Amino acid sequence: MRNLPTNPDRIAEDISDLAAITEPDHPYTRRAFTPMFLAGRSYLERRFEKAGLKIRIDAAGNLIGHRPGKKPGLGTILLGSHSDTVPDGGRYDGIAGVSAALEVARALHDQDVQLDHDLEIVDFLAEEVSIFGVSCIGSRGMIGLVPPDWLTRTSGDLTLEQGIADVGGHPQVSEKRTDIKAFLELHIEQGPVLEDKKLDIGVVTAIAGITRIEIVVDGRADHAGTTPMGSRRDALTAAARLVLAIEQLASQLAEGPAHFAATVGEFRIEPNAANVVPSRAVMLIDARAENRADMERFCEAVDALALEVADETDCSVARPRRISDNQPTPCDPDLLKVLDAACEATGARHRRMASGAGHDTAWMARATKAAMIFIPCLGGRSHAPEESAKTEDIALGAAVLLEAVKTLDKQLQEAK
Ligand SMILES: [Zn+2]
Repeated sequence: MRNLPTNPDRIAEDISDLAAITEPDHPYTRRAFTPMFLAGRSYLERRFEKAGLKIRIDAAGNLIGHRPGKKPGLGTILLGSHSDTVPDGGRYDGIAGVSAALEVARALHDQDVQLDHDLEIVDFLAEEVSIFGVSCIGSRGMIGLVPPDWLTRTSGDLTLEQGIADVGGHPQVSEKRTDIKAFLELHIEQGPVLEDKKLDIGVVTAIAGITRIEIVVDGRADHAGTTPMGSRRDALTAAARLVLAIEQLASQLAEGPAHFAATVGEFRIEPNAANVVPSRAVMLIDARAENRADMERFCEAVDALALEVADETDCSVARPRRISDNQPTPCDPDLLKVLDAACEATGARHRRMASGAGHDTAWMARATKAAMIFIPCLGGRSHAPEESAKTEDIALGAAVLLEAVKTLDKQLQEAK
């Protein structure tokens, strides 16, 4: 065991106490804007206060704990993640990062260290896709990037505007923080790489861009018993060729140096009846790329595949349509160096890697220097009750953050 400046017992307590605040039949569920979420928030408020932090809810509905620096006006170093969960989610997604950030503040208190910069710990509101169908509401809000028409979105009788107000925010105030000099987030990897390679920390180079592409294949409905095999226009078998070709294409791109993954995650056929040749297949591709060039190559290849399959079969394939298209977000190169060095100083075995999942860091990166680290999780499982991570690994990650924060506290001033 390493001799760490951070305390695994306090982290274990944060996490098990929060895990107990869940919809009873759905561990671990604390969806943003629900009473369970608010109960989790009041627990966190008590923990923040116990750590000597001055708490507030910002306009966007984020919970913030403030630790003043020695040099007022120098700016803020911000650490944090999110405490909301997906339905039937895990104990660690987001929560590990809030606890680790809080632990940094507690360790500074233990060491009697006052930074020059202000330090703030944040629990972002609604990182996961919320009951309003949108995600990263708090991190977007902190930097003034919540689309105004989102406020009128509803879930039952509740508007997002009212939801943010109920959490304690001021949805009509457009916050746009300019004092934040750096943002760091710890998160569980949600994949198997660190565990497989027996590493402690992944220093995240970029958060993959996500592009979703819809493909519609049209054939002809016919009697499944009487239509000869050679004279069918089966939309499903044509679509199946596409699915397999997309898998192959994605596997080839994934062999390159940058992260790439693509999944046909949604698929439906019509009329979906045992005795009818399928007349239509609709699929949705979710593609994720660390490099925009890979995504462009993928999209071009998918267009070509669609033409090819239409050519080889008697079905028609509509031109693949990009439903949504987000650019990848690189993490700040200076922060990556600071994090690598912090891993070395802490004795953490580390590597650089991209994030295939979206995170609040991707939004913060639009307004300030931002970066994140991953810690291993059991079997790479996430968004499931089985999600698991070791408290010692989180404590080590928190120690890396602590080291990085101390370095940044000096370095950000020299950079001026
Ligand atoms: Zn998360």
